Amino acid sequence: MVVDLHAHSTASDGSETPSALVEMAVSRGLTTLALTDHDTLEGVEEARAAAEMADIDLIPGTELSLDFDGGMHLVVLWLEPGPGPLQDRLASLQEGRNRRNATIADLLVALGMPVSIEEVAEEAGSGSVGRPHIAAVMMRKGYVRSVAEAFDLWLGAGKPAYSGRPRLSPEEAISLAVTSGGVPVLAHPHTLGINRSHEMAQLLTRLRSAGLVGLEALCAGYHRHEREGYADLATRFDLVPSGGSDYHGAYKPGLELGIGYGDLEVPASVVSQLRAHARAS
Ligand code: AMP
Ligand code: ZN
Ligand code: FE
Ligand code: FE
Repeated sequence: MVVDLHAHSTASDGSETPSALVEMAVSRGLTTLALTDHDTLEGVEEARAAAEMADIDLIPGTELSLDFDGGMHLVVLWLEPGPGPLQDRLASLQEGRNRRNATIADLLVALGMPVSIEEVAEEAGSGSVGRPHIAAVMMRKGYVRSVAEAFDLWLGAGKPAYSGRPRLSPEEAISLAVTSGGVPVLAHPHTLGINRSHEMAQLLTRLRSAGLVGLEALCAGYHRHEREGYADLATRFDLVPSGGSDYHGAYKPGLELGIGYGDLEVPASVVSQLRAHARAS
């Protein structure tokens, strides 16, 4: 029994609709899928309806970008749509995105690569609008050859068309997640940019005492020794070793739901561990 606890749909920067994602999960033999669109729960209703038809467990969730040098992402699982402390903050996070996107569009105009907010909105459809949508418009207009190239040359942190947006602090996000009934999981920890083990230990101690429940050890693109290393780390800090593909469809070519780059396998036991651990903390 295998699961995928990190995936994006058209409700943020994935290319597949929530129901298509659920169907894909079923055809891949997954028993549980978590929908974790950036800063939104907009896709949950559609995904849940599709999951009920198809007999697969759907975990509603979201992924937040936090205020941390180098970048920190938090996946929040079992976050239900509707009112709630974190749910209520998602709207302002989206406003921050929209303001940031307008700034990026202005920068691109100044750099001689005009991209309008209308074109980006059309690319994104409903839900959270992000840099991958801007990258897709840049690709269509012939400014870059791929989404990855758009990030490498222009949109990534520190590049000429980069602009930041307001982010929650790690403590604030974890606390909001927990008081909203969600289960916070530190996403793809390699992107923290921490190489020294004592720094990682300090950070995990800090996040664990704030209420962190899981850490993604099973990520696409990790070598086996990395998965084992992060799983050991999770165990040392009393965190559940979670994981998922971080599937984005056409926005991240080559990455597949459930299996990542072909060798990913997240056991279903992780789901019950996350649930039990969340209740126990
Ligand atoms: P945003 O949320 O709008 O700030 O955009 C960040 C999102 O862009 C990330 O969550 C990824 O989905 C995607 N992303 C970041 N870096 C890259 C990259 N180098 N290539 C493709 N997608 C990326
Ligand atoms: Zn994304
Ligand atoms: Fe992420
Ligand atoms: Fe993600």
